[in-house]
Amino acid sequence: MRFESGKPDVIPAEGHHRRLASMREVIHGFLDGVIDGATTVMGPHTRRLEALLYERWGRRAVATSSGTESLHFSLRAAGIGPGDEVIVPDMTFAATAFAVNAVGATPVFVDVEPGCWLISPEAIRNAVTTRTKVIIVVHLYGQIAEMDEISAIAAEHGLTVVEDCAQAHEATYQGEPAGSFGDFGCFSVWAGKNAGGLGDGGMVVVKDEETLVAVERLRNLGRDPDDRYVHHSWGSRARLSELDAAVLCHQIPMLPVWNERRRLTADRYDKAFADLPLTTPVVLPGREHAFYKYAVHTEHTTALATHLAERGIQAERVYPRLLSQQPAFADLPHRAAPTPVAEANNPKLLCLPIYPELRDEERHAIIAGVRSFFDGGA
Ligand SMILES: *Cc1c(COP(=O)(O)O)cnc(C)c1O
Repeated sequence: MRFESGKPDVIPAEGHHRRLASMREVIHGFLDGVIDGATTVMGPHTRRLEALLYERWGRRAVATSSGTESLHFSLRAAGIGPGDEVIVPDMTFAATAFAVNAVGATPVFVDVEPGCWLISPEAIRNAVTTRTKVIIVVHLYGQIAEMDEISAIAAEHGLTVVEDCAQAHEATYQGEPAGSFGDFGCFSVWAGKNAGGLGDGGMVVVKDEETLVAVERLRNLGRDPDDRYVHHSWGSRARLSELDAAVLCHQIPMLPVWNERRRLTADRYDKAFADLPLTTPVVLPGREHAFYKYAVHTEHTTALATHLAERGIQAERVYPRLLSQQPAFADLPHRAAPTPVAEANNPKLLCLPIYPELRDEERHAIIAGVRSFFDGGA
């Protein structure tokens, strides 16, 4: 397949190299600024980023080194430790559960809802024990989970709610953005997320000043902000680089336009696949989806992926194993309730490229690729 200048091109599963390339000059400028500036971490760009998040989310924010550390610090700031149970959906990225192991607590894997693949409120209810302390809600693929019901369960049992918003930058639920419902909102700004820097990065948004100070200390060796060799408590070393902070300050204002472009592509796919024997993503009422991923549900995942790969289109299974099926959790402490919905359906999900940098002709090629698979009589 040829898209431009006679060069056979692959349509990659993720678009962040294109995104970074489109801001090459700007990034070079930021790099020069950091080289010539006073500090490479925790400087003006990080402060500007945290202020920008406060402006947009109405909550105070702490920039960190990753989404994983953001989740870890939230659990630590909430005082979670050995003997405590943390409810986690079985269908998510492993980092969500590793953050629980990092504080010595036990993740409890629960099932998801059919169709949207988001954590099931009913499964949460059934998993609550006297040891349960936290629900980690994952806004999988960019759609916000059933927050009203989950918040009600949390209130009933006195549980902390941590939102894993790694995939849901500026997704909304009843008009409010991901990260504004729970006690903590944790974001990944790894390069491949809807907004992302050059490497790893994360952010935590919190509800009050006391938690803000706790998370700031966890990020930086428990250090006193005004007296660098005074350490008030244990802390990790998990700061965001000034270069990445600058890149993110540049990107975050573009999120609404980028997400709109993702939704437009989703809409085109929905319409183009309406008559095919596959199910397109369900957008639940009251939601604005951020479409980090566009997952189709089909009986023919492997054959479809191969068919697309032959046409230079990278379609991915995200994530091919449930947490309960990961080798790591054969050895790590966890408690798994049966997750029949996740187990039956996870093998049938396949993610098509949907990033904003996807060119129109590439979108057409993806649509043609999917249609030709089914027209071929699969
Ligand atoms: C990316 C991601 C994380 C981890 O973020 P990192 O920045 O890679 O550490 C956690 N949870 C989910 C759902 C993710 O997609």
